[in-house]
Amino acid sequence: MREKYRWDKQVDVLVVGSGFAGLTAAIEAGEAGKNVLVIEKMKTAGGNSIISDGGIAAPGTLLQEKHGLEDSQQLMYEDMLKAGLGLNHPNLLRTFVTNAGDAFQWTVDYLNVPYMDRVDLFGGHRVPRCYTPEGITGNTILKRMIRKVEDLEIPILYNTCFRRFIQDEKGSVMGCMVDREYDHKSNTGVSTYIKTNKGIILASGGYGADVKFRSIQDPRLDESIQTTNKPFATSEVLKSALEIGAASVQLSHIQLGAWASPDEPGFGHGPMFADYIVFKHGIIINPTTGQRIVNELGDRKQSADAILATGHPCVGIADHRAVTESGWDISKAIDKGVVRVFDTMEDLASFYGIDLESLSESINRYNGFANKGKDEDFGKPIFQDAKGIENPPYYAMRLWPKVHFTMGGLRINKKAQVVDFDGNVIKGLYAAGEVVGGVHGASRLASCAITECIVFGRIAGQNI
Ligand SMILES: Cc1cc2nc3c(=O)[nH]c(=O)nc-3n(C[C@H](O)[C@H](O)[C@H](O)COP(=O)(O)OP(=O)(O)OC[C@H]3O[C@@H](n4cnc5c(N)ncnc54)[C@H](O)[C@@H]3O)c2cc1C
Repeated sequence: MREKYRWDKQVDVLVVGSGFAGLTAAIEAGEAGKNVLVIEKMKTAGGNSIISDGGIAAPGTLLQEKHGLEDSQQLMYEDMLKAGLGLNHPNLLRTFVTNAGDAFQWTVDYLNVPYMDRVDLFGGHRVPRCYTPEGITGNTILKRMIRKVEDLEIPILYNTCFRRFIQDEKGSVMGCMVDREYDHKSNTGVSTYIKTNKGIILASGGYGADVKFRSIQDPRLDESIQTTNKPFATSEVLKSALEIGAASVQLSHIQLGAWASPDEPGFGHGPMFADYIVFKHGIIINPTTGQRIVNELGDRKQSADAILATGHPCVGIADHRAVTESGWDISKAIDKGVVRVFDTMEDLASFYGIDLESLSESINRYNGFANKGKDEDFGKPIFQDAKGIENPPYYAMRLWPKVHFTMGGLRINKKAQVVDFDGNVIKGLYAAGEVVGGVHGASRLASCAITECIVFGRIAGQNI
């Protein structure tokens, strides 16, 4: 409804959130000559994007070609649809895979992001198509985005929290109320009104740290389950959009990271060992039975659900050869005591209270599968370079899932416009990144969130 305001500021485009989706959208809108403003409720930029590993997935890239890897948009579409249990919105998924290669190349050519000379395969992807920036951190990408934002003279207002939309009499978004000098702890600030000539792009991220909201959607995810997210990953922007009629999509689909450790807070250092080494070259053992529980290279939902179903942390195990040949440096996880190193399997079994005989039987059986090239128990893909677990020392880590990503969110169309339940566009409102739902369906594959931020951030910034 129209209200009478004294506008404090007027811009063409307002972007809410300074993670990968927001900054990408701001850059594209800025390149198109728009007068853009980014607001960020925290005192620094980056959201969850800056603490991510920066892993990005795309099919048919030059780096894959260099490493002799064959891939296609269709193959990636099928992999994501399978992990998503068919719940992915086909128009968004098709847009995603069609633009993923260009999005990755944009980070190389336009942003100058340096990537490691390797292409990795994580659970659920059938071919290696994941690229890691140097430093193995999202900050490598974020720093370069910030540089572009500065070059384009796009201001970022920190400590500025989005509060509510202001619409005209037809329901089009014409501006919003924000709190300047926002204090996260007291949730207070100074009300300020911003008029937007072209519209608002929501890029406020997911709600993984919003225990109240997430446990309404999935009651298992109360405060007893930790999260890898920063505390600002909350739902207020999403809820404001729902209040003005935006359609919600699959809000109860919340991803748990099966590679997380209960022995460190947040994301920590253990996931590099579990996700990058154990899942491909090792096994996950239920300490109570000494047996494997799942295809370790299944998608995140399969592995997290299997661990949760045991009712207690499980143990990920890999051997020395897997660790050294992987090329990943896991020394921080070892120094922190999250990953432990054992000279013998006896020591390992005794430390975690696993029956040695059952464990040895499970390992021998798995080694047989690795030699044969076929996992007869769980159908884990056994690659040509697969080896058994036989070279001491042995490395192990306790695994207990943490809330990591929210697949659900706002409904958008292929142009990144926010849409209501009747399929009508809410004029002046766009969204990109984790605040959006539908791309991943029931479960997101590794490295696909950052691709999503860049694909739809670019589309939103160009279309607005
Ligand atoms: C530890 C970790 C590691 C990860 N690693 C990977 C990886 O390697 N590859 C991959 O693909 N994905 C990864 N992910 C997921 C991925 O990083 C995120 O999905 C993605 O970065 C989200 O980007 P975004 O721009 O949508 O949101 P964010 O980066 O979270 O940014 C949202 C911003 O909006 C701000 N905001 C929120 N509400 C308001 C408001 N009311 N007013 C103003 N500002 C607001 C927040 O403060 C935040 O800064 C990882 C996630 C985590 C937590």
